[in-house]
Amino acid sequence: MNGLELIRRIRSVDEKVQIIITTAYDDNDFFIRAIEYGVNHFILKPIDHEKFLQSLQQSIYQSLLEKELEKQKQYTRTIIDFQENLICIMNDEYLLDFNLSFANFFGIKEIAKLREGKRHISDYFVEEPGYFYVKGQNEWIRSLIDRTIDFLKVKMLSQQKEEKVFLLKATSFPHEQGSYLVVFTDITALEEESRRNEFLAMKDPLTKVYNRLKFDEFFSREINRVNRYKSKFSIILFDIDYFKKINDTYGHDVGDCVLVRLCEMIQQRLRDCDIFARWGGEEFIILTPATDKKGALHLAEALRALVEKATFPMVGHVTCSFGVCEYEEGMSKEKMVKRADEALYKAKREGRNRVIVSE
Ligand code: GH3
Ligand code: MG
Ligand code: MG
Repeated sequence: MNGLELIRRIRSVDEKVQIIITTAYDDNDFFIRAIEYGVNHFILKPIDHEKFLQSLQQSIYQSLLEKELEKQKQYTRTIIDFQENLICIMNDEYLLDFNLSFANFFGIKEIAKLREGKRHISDYFVEEPGYFYVKGQNEWIRSLIDRTIDFLKVKMLSQQKEEKVFLLKATSFPHEQGSYLVVFTDITALEEESRRNEFLAMKDPLTKVYNRLKFDEFFSREINRVNRYKSKFSIILFDIDYFKKINDTYGHDVGDCVLVRLCEMIQQRLRDCDIFARWGGEEFIILTPATDKKGALHLAEALRALVEKATFPMVGHVTCSFGVCEYEEGMSKEKMVKRADEALYKAKREGRNRVIVSE
């Protein structure tokens, strides 16, 4: 075959191989076709050895550069595929590239898949308080890129229907207007732990009502509030009657069930603004904002009747005694609880299953 044909065939098996031709031709047509086939260097005959060596060196250098580039690309690929973070590159309309974690999470093998359905990343967001949520459009990414906000916390549903929490960050590429890099850091485990800690810090693990520590916080806040606005509030302290007997007769576990059921019942009857907490053992406390002793007596009486009427598994009927105290200006928390406790003690002494208001 002739030289041109040889070049064409070499190119058809290897697009990148360096080709140097030595030729005596000086016709334009030959050169143009040789360029079209992607010849890298020309050396006219008779061969100038110096020039030939130069071309050879340039070709080798070019070839090494390409190999290096390919290696770098593979390193980068390995690094981003090794990430547990979901990483993608996108523009306003399309996903341009993504890593393995991203592909696994969304269950996509090719970019085309996501384009076909014309889906946006935000289509995978789960609407829930505390998490960023938007439908359709990609404009939210702008505020991340412009650094108006540092990150967004989102909940997303994976292809395997798993809910995960991510921290979203995005940045644009220098010298490239339209496209940007988006990184989703998986913080699901952290988020769960923080929820658990939050719960432990304020709720009683058995009954799920507020613990004494959290109650104390609400209590202080309420005292400050009523002092400022000259409004009212009351507390109701109550204790289960003869609870020791329930434990002794049916066992501690049954006693626990009574506590749980009782709390559910009371919580349901209260307003959202009322604070209900476990004061200790089988003793509970309620803070009722904007309520004087008359109103608190009314509420305590309703709760007493509610418990009295209820039937508890195994145990049957249970009753409680209540002590009520309304806040008076200058009263300390301790003083107020002491007054409610004295009223509760009086209710016990007078025969239990009753409400006494501290006067
Ligand atoms: P009173 O009518 O005077 O209140 O009598 P009581 O038996 O209820 O009073 P007492 O204070 O003597 O008994 C309270 C009992 O509550 C004792 C304690 O073992 C039990 N108790 C405290 N916390 C728990 C709990 O978390 N679970 C169970 N099952 N029992 C508890
Ligand atoms: Mg008791
Ligand atoms: Mg007690």
